[in-house]
Amino acid sequence: MAKYVFVFGGVVSGLGKGIVAASLGRLLKLRGYKVQAQKFDPYLNIDPGTMNPTQHGEVFVTADGAETDLDLGHYERFIDENLTKYCNLTSGKALWRVLNNEREGKYLGKTVQIIPHVTNEIKDFISRNVKETKADVMITEIGGTVGDIEGQPFIEAIRQFMIEVGRENCVVIHVCLTPYISGSDEYKSKPVQHSVKELQSMGIAPDIVVTRSATDCGQEIRDKIAMFASIRRDCVISNTDVDCLYAAPVMLHENGLDKAVCRILGLKDECDLSEWNDMLARVRARDGKLKIAIVGKYVSLHDSYISIIEALQHASYTVGKNLDMLWVDSEKITAENVCKKLKDVDGVLVPGGFGERGIDGMIEAARYTRENKIPYFGICLGMQIAVIEYARDVAGIADACSGEFKEGSKVIDLMPDQKGLRLGGTMRLGAYPCIVKKDTRLYSAYGKEKISERHRHRYEFNNDYRETLENAGLVLAGTSPDGVIVEAVETKGDGYFVGVQFHPEFTSRPNRAGALFVSFLTAADNYSKEHGDIQK
Ligand code: GLN
Repeated sequence: MAKYVFVFGGVVSGLGKGIVAASLGRLLKLRGYKVQAQKFDPYLNIDPGTMNPTQHGEVFVTADGAETDLDLGHYERFIDENLTKYCNLTSGKALWRVLNNEREGKYLGKTVQIIPHVTNEIKDFISRNVKETKADVMITEIGGTVGDIEGQPFIEAIRQFMIEVGRENCVVIHVCLTPYISGSDEYKSKPVQHSVKELQSMGIAPDIVVTRSATDCGQEIRDKIAMFASIRRDCVISNTDVDCLYAAPVMLHENGLDKAVCRILGLKDECDLSEWNDMLARVRARDGKLKIAIVGKYVSLHDSYISIIEALQHASYTVGKNLDMLWVDSEKITAENVCKKLKDVDGVLVPGGFGERGIDGMIEAARYTRENKIPYFGICLGMQIAVIEYARDVAGIADACSGEFKEGSKVIDLMPDQKGLRLGGTMRLGAYPCIVKKDTRLYSAYGKEKISERHRHRYEFNNDYRETLENAGLVLAGTSPDGVIVEAVETKGDGYFVGVQFHPEFTSRPNRAGALFVSFLTAADNYSKEHGDIQK
């Protein structure tokens, strides 16, 4: 019999509900339970796949090829379980299914309504996920804030679901902001009280309130929250700032979150945090700094690259250096200023992206790093940029371009099976195997011939130019098992100039850093040692 945890948010959004859900997932997994997590998003997009990253942050891709909310990335990194297409449900997707059913006559002439049709769809989604994954504990995070109109069908569905599976098998956590008023130097519990009431008025009484504040709000405030929420004192948990994201599970454990959850659900309450703490010790023992530039066009919102940032962090724990991240807007890079923009960096990473904007700056950055032997790591679009740059500047194909953005010699072009497809959900998505060529940087990074990484792209290396580019010295370090799709390129000799068509950031974990991120940072570390810079 599975147990269910529901995580709601109150007062404001952006409180790190996802980190609470993910941290709890880890703490339960450390007790030996099989934990899965899922996210409900109240917006109407079918999935975040077509959303602009600067609005909504990164699109996280699961191994089975679903384009999902970035919180799923936190779940995977913290819980270290692969999630599936059943792990992210938007209002749009629930409605879409209901409306399709209606058109197919599946409701046998009945009036189709939010309750029961949409709510049933939501309930089915939870059950299906538990059935597919055989989870002992299913953690469901509800996006947005309690009280939003769009979120109401989810709340109602969960209310019903809890009655059906037995309230004793469920725990409801409400994550709220407890604001600090600097004028009177005190924390205020009133917004939490109101938010709890709002949730209660929809038929769900939270069992645990997690109060978010920069520092501890104090026992007195927690007691007040407990009283007004009608919960035990030890069920009000402080969620304070931590020096490193991965310290959150330890902080929440110390504040009693997992203890309260286990007591309510009747789960065993012993967990060994020593391995996790060893990792945190490595995080804190890092010495010295590597300056890494991220050259992209969504740099105004760092969440657009959250998995890449995290993967770089994970690698930095292995390499033992702190990261100094430099965000460079590729639209502002020109041939004239590239050397100034990338001054003093130890490595340049060009991440994924879509469309024409900012491309020229990325190509300049690639050229500058290759010529100056500054480590370059291109991911997806970043790999395509590397190929275009190499084609133009080394292979002499002056008008080399991608079919996505310019007319010319398309060294990168649409995959045959992508022609004429509509935009949503139609890319090459999810995990595919890749065969790694021996004696390449890719091989030294992974240490094996067969790897599997996740994809999200429409364009690829154009095989018409394969011979020309190989003759010009470009190494095709990885291909699909049948040899047809080029998955990775690099240059020969010294210098680190590597591009991969896949997204290795999605499988990196804090205690098992992505192989290519480690090899990139190691190259950056070597570069930094060779070019010892007094300011650092
Ligand atoms: N826009 C490119 C493509 O569709 C790259 C995609 C990406 O970087 N994720 O192939």
